[in-house]
Amino acid sequence: MKYLRKTMETLKIRYDESVFEQFKLYRNLVLQWNQKVNLTAIKDPDDFEIMHFVDSLLCCVHPAFEKGENVIDVGTGAGFPGIPLGLCFPNKKFTLVDSLNKRIKILNQIIEELGLQNVTAVHGRAEDLSKLMLYREKYDICLSRAVADLAILTEYCLPFIKVGGWFGAYKSSNTEEEIKRSRKAIQLLGGKWGTITSVPIEGLDLNHQILWINKIKPTTAKYPRKAGIPEKEPLL
Ligand code: SAM
Repeated sequence: MKYLRKTMETLKIRYDESVFEQFKLYRNLVLQWNQKVNLTAIKDPDDFEIMHFVDSLLCCVHPAFEKGENVIDVGTGAGFPGIPLGLCFPNKKFTLVDSLNKRIKILNQIIEELGLQNVTAVHGRAEDLSKLMLYREKYDICLSRAVADLAILTEYCLPFIKVGGWFGAYKSSNTEEEIKRSRKAIQLLGGKWGTITSVPIEGLDLNHQILWINKIKPTTAKYPRKAGIPEKEPLL
């Protein structure tokens, strides 16, 4: 796992050698399940390590991540970025959300096999879960990778975050237009545009970015709108 090791060193993530065995086990479990249920198109071991593990960890450069204790990953799929982060940061708590119960059931088995005490997987749509007291404005950090356009994601994610917390959206490059389109949604949901982080990892041409939004005000009760509406009628 040379790319993962290089990334953890670049990002100054402290690790024990045993973490690499955990990552290998996780990769094997995902690829085994992938034969029955579609979880990922990436099967080559190096690509898997780079596109799923390295990429998931890139949020660590934001100072808010270092301070945050409670993290929610919206639209986690096979556990990205939540599980790689859970493996590297045992002192933080991660809640993984996905609307597809089949994936959540698999994730629960994977979490158990990895013995991850700090990670919980929850089935539901973001728009429904963030209306519940248990989840609303309870998280320091919300992360989401490859789920939707930023204007839609903002409506899915900002309601989960405490005032003062941060939302990090994982994106590939060329995000200027997407950021412009999401200005109204950010303002309506109680957010403020923050910054973009991107970390060059030696020997890798990843070129990915994380777009960060700060939650500065509580989200009004009317948001998020009913499940499905944010996607059909984004707040543009
Ligand atoms: N984040 C993972 C990754 O980067 O590999 C999975 C990305 S996958 C393309 C998008 C995931 O988001 C799917 O598993 C889908 O079920 C989930 N999803 C889409 N809309 C959602 C919503 N409104 N609430 C919760 N999960 C959602």
